[in-house]
Amino acid sequence: MRVTVIGTGYLGATHAACMAELGAEVLGVDIDPDRITALSEARVPFYEPGLDEMIRRHVGSGRLSFTTSLRRAAEFGDVHFLCVGTPQRPDSGSADLSYLFSAVDGLAPYLRRTSLIIGKSTVPVGTAARLTERLRRQCGPDVPVEVAWNPEFLQEGTAVENTLDPDRLVFGVSSDFAEQVLRDLYADLIARGVPVVVTDIPTSELIKSSANAFLATKVSFINAVAEVCEAAGADVRKLAEALSLDPRIGHTYLRPGIGFGGGCLPKDLRALRARADELGVGHALRFLGEVDEINLRARERVIELAREECGGSLAGRRVCVLGAAFKPNSDDIRDSPALAVAAALRDLGSEVSVYDPKAADNARKQFPDLDYALSAADAAQGAAVVLHLTEWAEFGELDPAAIGEVVAERRIIDGRNTLDGDRWRAAGWRYRALGRNVPQ
Ligand code: NAD
Repeated sequence: MRVTVIGTGYLGATHAACMAELGAEVLGVDIDPDRITALSEARVPFYEPGLDEMIRRHVGSGRLSFTTSLRRAAEFGDVHFLCVGTPQRPDSGSADLSYLFSAVDGLAPYLRRTSLIIGKSTVPVGTAARLTERLRRQCGPDVPVEVAWNPEFLQEGTAVENTLDPDRLVFGVSSDFAEQVLRDLYADLIARGVPVVVTDIPTSELIKSSANAFLATKVSFINAVAEVCEAAGADVRKLAEALSLDPRIGHTYLRPGIGFGGGCLPKDLRALRARADELGVGHALRFLGEVDEINLRARERVIELAREECGGSLAGRRVCVLGAAFKPNSDDIRDSPALAVAAALRDLGSEVSVYDPKAADNARKQFPDLDYALSAADAAQGAAVVLHLTEWAEFGELDPAAIGEVVAERRIIDGRNTLDGDRWRAAGWRYRALGRNVPQ
């Protein structure tokens, strides 16, 4: 099958490569010419484990190619995946759908035969209906165009394996034809037993938004309990361990810390709330506002702990920030809690030195006035306090004694609750973590 993938960011580039892996001939399309040049040369313009090897292989075999031309896309495929961004609008919590509209407006004039447009971007419920109306208006009665939705659940850092071995496939369709096309495209995964949920399009749109809202709620739940633990002298990490042994609760997304960020959870949470408001049922999801606030409060709490550790003022103090990406194994810094904290500390007058194994280049573009070190030890030079804010595996392997040699004061705040506090304390550090009233 010949498919196009419109939008080749974290989602689209992964999807394009994986579609080629599953046997399709794929044309990736993007409005960013630098991105298309890089991908055409089999260079992935961001960090995602395993993706560059797969893109190299399929670009090499000719099964995967890239273009900036939507005209070429229309000529190439009968199936078009929409993978463009749906960020938060600057003036409200709603999703900005302009990238989706401009993608379909760019494609529609060139469509000449029966086409299936499959949305993968995360969208407010009702978006597919708007796109259908837009396409029908532009294509007229002679070119049958249908829209389906196939929301994506991949996570950055494990995007390739999530795409090729997903927990489930969701097909939002309004015809047997669309369902069959999706079944053919994912035939290998379905044959391997990946569950398929076939439903109407609005339900499929809402499945994705609800999944992200649920995950965000889980993170904020444990962070809210962490606040209570701190006040009560309890240990939230032990509490979370005990909760997660209950299979009804499960262990994922239940680790207390500085909370969620990235290009998805925060904006999807707000977009879902905004859409519920538009639909007249805002009251049903009002609690998601609290989920958002708890999440942002965790960032404040890290800053408060740093201030306490520095004797009440952060002005003029050197602070080492370990991590810039919103999560490990990614260079994505969109709405990164680590960088939000780093920038807030700088605003408070601290000299902030940031180290991240992969995300420093992206971080430098957004926050050019922070100092970026080439290693954790460099970032820690002369620091009055070290903040562990993105849980890269290499931070768990740091030698507290060696880092202790270069800092001004042996104080560390574990914003992710993943370091071995006993190891740090044994090397003479004051170790503090969110939600744990740990003896110093
Ligand atoms: P991204 O910003 O990395 O990529 C979006 C790409 O779309 C960019 O390369 C941009 O240049 C391109 N684009 C914008 N307008 C275009 C147009 N008119 N024609 C062609 N290309 C265009 O974003 P992303 O993280 O890949 O997210 C894309 C969508 O997928 C969002 O809706 C997001 O919520 C959803 N999603 C993302 C993830 C993830 O982990 N990143 C997971 C699941 C779902």
